[in-house]
Amino acid sequence: MDALAELRAIYKEVDAVLDGFTCDASSDCCHFARTGREPYPSAIEIAELARAVRARGGAPKKSKRALAMADERRCVLLGEDGKCSVYASRPFGCRTFFCERGHGPVGEAPPPLKGGDLGRLGRAIADLSARFDPHDPGPRPLSKVTARPGWESRGR
Ligand code: SF4
Repeated sequence: MDALAELRAIYKEVDAVLDGFTCDASSDCCHFARTGREPYPSAIEIAELARAVRARGGAPKKSKRALAMADERRCVLLGEDGKCSVYASRPFGCRTFFCERGHGPVGEAPPPLKGGDLGRLGRAIADLSARFDPHDPGPRPLSKVTARPGWESRGR
């Protein structure tokens, strides 16, 4: 299995752990100025995002609406429909980016990021990234990566 396929298999495990958990799908967490936070994907997660962007023929076009919302620091991968354009490849941070609105089927809080299954899977992604890019495996702000012209061609 190549490294990206291995990553997608870990993402499936993450999704299984979080099966049944949801939020109000406001996409607030994809507007980084709204939350004051953003995902920090590792090198291998960025390579998977780049693969997914290339597969769909590029990042979503910047509409007038998106440009008007520039001060909200809207993720460039958020589609005009308010949905992630690379949902199946979104990073661990996006899969687990719960705010206080995240909840389970009977209103329970999401599982913790540290310890437990999510902690183990987060470490598995970090280990995989270290093997994938031993020189620069670590996490970095998604907005900085996607601000670089042609990042999806290089995967960095
Ligand atoms: S990658 Fe997708 S889910 Fe993550 S912040 Fe961007 S649009 Fe939102």
